[in-house]
Amino acid sequence: MKKITVIVSCYNEEKALPLFYEELSKNMNTFPQDVAFEILFINDGSKDNTLQVIKTLANQDNRVQYISFSRNFGKESAIFAGLEHASGDYVTLMDADLQDPPSLLKEMYHAIIEEGYDAVGTRRVNRKGEPLIRSFFARMFYKIINKMTSFQMVDGARDYVFMNRKVVDAIISLKEYNRYSKGLFSFVGFNVKWIEYENVQRVAGETKWSFWKLTKYALEGITAFSTTPLIISSIIGLIFCLLSFLLILTIIFKTLILGDPTSGWPSLVCIIFMVSGIQLFSLGIIGQYLSKTYLEVKKRPIYIVRESNIHPSDN
Ligand code: UDP
Ligand code: MG
Repeated sequence: MKKITVIVSCYNEEKALPLFYEELSKNMNTFPQDVAFEILFINDGSKDNTLQVIKTLANQDNRVQYISFSRNFGKESAIFAGLEHASGDYVTLMDADLQDPPSLLKEMYHAIIEEGYDAVGTRRVNRKGEPLIRSFFARMFYKIINKMTSFQMVDGARDYVFMNRKVVDAIISLKEYNRYSKGLFSFVGFNVKWIEYENVQRVAGETKWSFWKLTKYALEGITAFSTTPLIISSIIGLIFCLLSFLLILTIIFKTLILGDPTSGWPSLVCIIFMVSGIQLFSLGIIGQYLSKTYLEVKKRPIYIVRESNIHPSDN
């Protein structure tokens, strides 16, 4: 008997959940008899009736488990809680809005069981239905982050992945507070197969990601997985030191030999502006890393559970 745990993080998904459950059930029924399922809903501090909807499902179906957080901790925390509590031999992460088609589950399972992969990832081949400007910045982000990290982050990769126990345990072993799942998944490595699919619109409810939130998320991804920005600021600093040294030499030469002291404060003001700008920029970069370190050393819990129907002895 094999068991698959489906982890679903939910934040204000009362409208989407019943549709999601129905669609998922349909797909679970197509699996062979010797495959058992566990559906693990993580209620990430929803402000609507998501928890009630989940409890109703749990009463109808004993495969449904849930963990409800004491407040909204974010999807990354929800994923971590799910992975920690999943009891399956295989684990998959899904959104509640059906943007991660359950119809792919069988193909993913097959790739692991028959083709010997450790994990299967999914990526969207297009970004249909997304604002153009957002797609543009998303592409830029992947170009930049891939230049800065030693492992590859796949453009368009979703959090919809299917993993065996080894991969799950590897990801759980990364206990950092600032969690960037796509990066963690690339970081642990293993044999990953990528499945591509067309972008799907969310069935109900609204996206929780504004452009500003995405920008912050992107910057967090970079600082969490790369220290290249620090190197870049050091290099810029070095270049400016050399440049100013050359300038000083030229000015001394001009004044002493040619008797032509450089005049004019506009040029001076420009230089001061530019150099102090670069200094602030570099300080900002250092600050980013410092703030991450600050949050890490506090060792605060990644999530806090308010209620759950999982008993500790189950795992
Ligand atoms: N989500 C969550 N906590 C949050 C924000 C989102 O658990 O703080 C869940 C949300 O309920 C959904 C999934 O993460 O199941 C993806 O969110 P969304 O659909 O808003 O993101 P998008 O697909 O637009 O990137
Ligand atoms: Mg979505």
